[in-house]
Amino acid sequence: MNQWLEAATQLARQSGDAEAKQLATFLQERAVLGLPRAYNDLAYVPRADVNAAQAVYIVPMISIDYLTLPTDDYWRDFASPSSSVGRSVLAEFYVPTHAIYLPGEWPGAEIQSALLLLHEGQHAYDHMVRGAHMPKPFWRRERNAQLMELRILKTLGGEEFATYLDRLIPEVERQQDTAASIFTFTLPHQLRDDVLLDRILWPAATMPEQRDRQVDIERSAVAHYFERRYGSQGVRTYYGRYVRENYIANAHPQHLAGLE
Ligand SMILES: [Zn+2]
Repeated sequence: MNQWLEAATQLARQSGDAEAKQLATFLQERAVLGLPRAYNDLAYVPRADVNAAQAVYIVPMISIDYLTLPTDDYWRDFASPSSSVGRSVLAEFYVPTHAIYLPGEWPGAEIQSALLLLHEGQHAYDHMVRGAHMPKPFWRRERNAQLMELRILKTLGGEEFATYLDRLIPEVERQQDTAASIFTFTLPHQLRDDVLLDRILWPAATMPEQRDRQVDIERSAVAHYFERRYGSQGVRTYYGRYVRENYIANAHPQHLAGLE
């Protein structure tokens, strides 16, 4: 758990992003190590300075959990390194127990782990601190969390990343205009530039790591396109719609149940 927290804190500092820094502090102050038990239940390692109501339970899922949880347990797949690779959902905040489930043996780069935790941390913050004042419906919160990640990527990648995203604009536009129903951007092979991204973002050594990084690039490309076209406020509306359509299309029913 501490590695995840350190990585998140380090990345938040490095990016200078005010929201990311606030979330890193929130997580450091309230993180309690959680251990998965069957059907959404948790055991945990108490922390003297955090009371149970304030705690954010960080639950890194590992192979042993895959063996011990019932086969129909919702979280079981998060514990399998092979099934976590290339999945659309790698981590998740579970509202009823204030638990953030993480892929404990995920081979992703440290920066990617940090992004995952900050993203889920934002969901925890929305529910536990903003409460009744959190953005609604849920896709606005998802949009905000994704846009925070994309801001961080842009600071990491700087000018070169922005130039690369500019190069992707015609393709984003083409796919948007020709989408049959839901528009989901897929980066074509000829526009990939792993050498550049290894250097300016983080190295992705294996195919699964490249695949996971590519998801970030695809989202960045879409948000960048909307930002160029509609400005810094417009991007919130248009990227919000993109998130709403794609998220509802892909989310597991348990995840959507009861969300408002
Ligand atoms: Zn999310």
